[in-house]
Amino acid sequence: MRVDVFSIFPALVDGFCSESLLGKARENGLLDLRCHDLREHTTDVHRSVDDAPFGGGAGMVMRAEPIFASVEAAAPPRPLFLLSPGGRRFDQAMARELAATHETGGGFSLLCGRYEGVDHRVVEHLVDGEISIGDVVLSGGEVAACLVIEAVARLIPGAMGNDVSPVTESFGTSGLLEEPHYTRPADFRGWAVPEILRSGDHARIERWRLAQALHRTLRVRPDLIDARGGRSDQEERLLEEFPAVPYP
Ligand code: SAH
Repeated sequence: MRVDVFSIFPALVDGFCSESLLGKARENGLLDLRCHDLREHTTDVHRSVDDAPFGGGAGMVMRAEPIFASVEAAAPPRPLFLLSPGGRRFDQAMARELAATHETGGGFSLLCGRYEGVDHRVVEHLVDGEISIGDVVLSGGEVAACLVIEAVARLIPGAMGNDVSPVTESFGTSGLLEEPHYTRPADFRGWAVPEILRSGDHARIERWRLAQALHRTLRVRPDLIDARGGRSDQEERLLEEFPAVPYP
């Protein structure tokens, strides 16, 4: 999957995406990430990418020319999204949509703003949409771009081994948060792992896991339970059969 990123700090995105699973996905060709420096497409001696806002006011605005020139030179995969607090809220469903562009051999692109944002003509005439990573204001789109790329890349088939379960993973098709996990030692400071996980009874363990996912979701995100249309009679019985693990 090809992903192009446009930024005045391309090394931020390139560096983050060179480590760990993202680095591996790039090495083995699953992720073809290209980070473009908007400053390379400036024409003045100061290589300026920003200018004062028409109408006055605080801060600077990113100029349209270097952005258009950079995007036109790179011919990046579309859709091209501007990262912006005013965009569509990024979530797991959108990560799945973007990961699906992998199957069509496509990809997508991200434009990172800085300062007060970009000249609106970029929004109107260059990008295909805007993505927000949440109701918070960052100083630039680079961290947001890394967040989007990481969430999408781990969904590319093969990028994570068999680690991604589209059903049970949080925000997966079960509509639940994932259950709590434990690893060795079985007893840590007197806090024991639930006995059932050591029983070897895999059918029972699966039922326990579903019950814990339900308990946890009901506790911290009841809105997710509502969104999936509540819980079935069978799930009610599971909740009774397996009490919740302790939470603080
Ligand atoms: N003046 C703008 C904020 C600009 S922040 C406003 O009030 O809405 C500078 C840049 O950071 C933005 O252009 C955008 O690319 C990035 N950014 C900030 N917050 C973001 C968010 N929640 N999601 C995605 N990108 C964000």
